[in-house]
Amino acid sequence: MSNWIDAHLHLTDARIEANAPALIAEAVAQGISGFILGGVDPDEWDRQKRLHAAFPDRVVPVFGLHPWWIASRAHDDRITPALARLSSELEASPRVCRAIGETGLDFHPRFQESSHALQETVFREHLRLARFHRVPIVLHVVRAHDRALAILREERRDASSVDGPEPYGGIVHSFSEGPDVARAYLDLGLIPSISASVITRDKGSAFEKLRQTVVTLPATSFVLETDSPDQPPAGVSGLNEPSNLVTVAEAVARHRAVKHPGTTAAELLDGSAATLRRVFDIEE
Ligand SMILES: [Zn+2]
Repeated sequence: MSNWIDAHLHLTDARIEANAPALIAEAVAQGISGFILGGVDPDEWDRQKRLHAAFPDRVVPVFGLHPWWIASRAHDDRITPALARLSSELEASPRVCRAIGETGLDFHPRFQESSHALQETVFREHLRLARFHRVPIVLHVVRAHDRALAILREERRDASSVDGPEPYGGIVHSFSEGPDVARAYLDLGLIPSISASVITRDKGSAFEKLRQTVVTLPATSFVLETDSPDQPPAGVSGLNEPSNLVTVAEAVARHRAVKHPGTTAAELLDGSAATLRRVFDIEE
């Protein structure tokens, strides 16, 4: 039986939460035994804790303030207490919350530009907390890679002058950029995570950039996720499910096989799981 891991998904999302035990059981039947969650807001962290209590060996909680939660500007007065709570959660239960995220920047035009500065401030706070508690990060970056990389480099430089470099490591969830951007993150110890929607599209400029990434980089330079219930594979209507992790791996394997004949979905899933166990300190 395989021991594969979904690098990023939202089993506590209201659309699928009630069905989470069944979705986990279906995925386990496909060989997917670990599920690394993405944090949204403090109320959602409580739901992650409950799911982890029900599936302690399978569900890996990750707490953070999602860039969308910040960008909505609806929670400005809750940010400071939420960051304080995040720190105390990491202090009190380091074996429950395994990483900080989602954090990063989302500069999609649907968010007011006036939210950018606040997003950057909270992103920096997350990075400092991750360094202090020595946990990895889960990044969400949309239309803001240059800025996110600049902040990561600045914070890292500050860190090394204060208490020595402690690379937090982590993943860049739903990565859909080309090899140069991928290498820039990898240089900072951050691993691109590939989801279904772009790589299964088989056409368009975003697909072509990502295809270049998965073909050019070593197979150990990326991991695989579903981002369930969002971003279903091309042609799949309705909600995305963790079982579709296999579909992501099959698409990546098919594209890699052009340059690396014989590449299989199973070996990519094995490699991704090994990387995720190391980064998130998950037991076999
Ligand atoms: Zn997510």
